Amino acid sequence: MVENVFILGAGASFESGAPLMNNFLDISEELLMTNVLNEKREAFQEVFSIISDLQIIHSKSYLKLDNIETLFGAIEMARIINRLGTRTGNEIEVARESLIKLIVKTLEKTIKLPASDKHIRPTKSYLEFANLINDLQASNSNNSTSSIISFNYDVALDFALHYTSQSPDYCLSHSNDRSRLHYLKLHGSINWGRCKHCKEVLPYNFNDYFRKYNWSRLLGEVKNVLLTPSEHLHDLSHCNESVENIPVIVPPTWNKTDYQGTLTNVWTQAAEDLSTARNIFVIGYSLPESDAFFRYLFALGTAGKSRIKRFMVFDPNNTGEIKGRYETLIGRGIYDRFEYREMKFSEATPFIRNILNVKENKY
Ligand SMILES: [Zn+2]
Repeated sequence: MVENVFILGAGASFESGAPLMNNFLDISEELLMTNVLNEKREAFQEVFSIISDLQIIHSKSYLKLDNIETLFGAIEMARIINRLGTRTGNEIEVARESLIKLIVKTLEKTIKLPASDKHIRPTKSYLEFANLINDLQASNSNNSTSSIISFNYDVALDFALHYTSQSPDYCLSHSNDRSRLHYLKLHGSINWGRCKHCKEVLPYNFNDYFRKYNWSRLLGEVKNVLLTPSEHLHDLSHCNESVENIPVIVPPTWNKTDYQGTLTNVWTQAAEDLSTARNIFVIGYSLPESDAFFRYLFALGTAGKSRIKRFMVFDPNNTGEIKGRYETLIGRGIYDRFEYREMKFSEATPFIRNILNVKENKY
């Protein structure tokens, strides 16, 4: 049974170099000013052209299009009503693909993994977190386990888990192996591809990735490495053909019906893990208003007889805004278990280790 649930948001990847949701497009725009984008340049230009078109047309409406989540949501809505400013039909699909390419490439260009002695290392904050998870899994004598629920598309944690010899279960399909660590990426991942025929989602695991791409001879004096699994999705095949070359990325908005079947199992498992959790630790997830989906998932997942002992939120925000959002999310039943800590990810991990009394093993 899952005892500890860790919920990670963009704030967790921030210390590894990833942008936050509200400055994501600024970082993308900075990349566009440089010449590092190559063939993805066009997709970036398309996204900024959409934003300026929409800002002219909808100058009176209240949509913060400079926020990546709002923009993603607007494009999803456009697919339903078949109108995105002056764009219709296939132009909207192109817009959506361009936005996904922008998100993926911005993440792949900003998360730099340190390299030394011809080895790629995880970023410090994710390595410490992966070690905590490893120690927790090892110390569980009574068959209780941990589960990680993530809103992040990037693979910085995936790599840290790989580095610490953990092979988590993404729970993309139903599994009865309850002993494996659950790693539930609710919004998809840049290393997930989808079969062109049966639509099954296939992850590109780092074991396979590094077997195919031998980095050590390339590293030499290199101090940083950018991992680009999205560029190699064609290595994966299913139904006798390589998978779609665009990663499975789902917008963090209320409308996820279009993705039903694709990630249903991940979401179901998240609700189940929340329902048995004793400790819930939320790190760097600001609970945006646009993500009604998570509010429902949380409410339904934790409904009923509460076993929750601790519900702790870690975020450096000290304005009271994020704390307030959580106070309205959680029910009265667990209000006295709720604690908000103004801490960064790198501060939260040792803090959690301490309160769960998990001894540090050296690997
Ligand atoms: Zn298939």
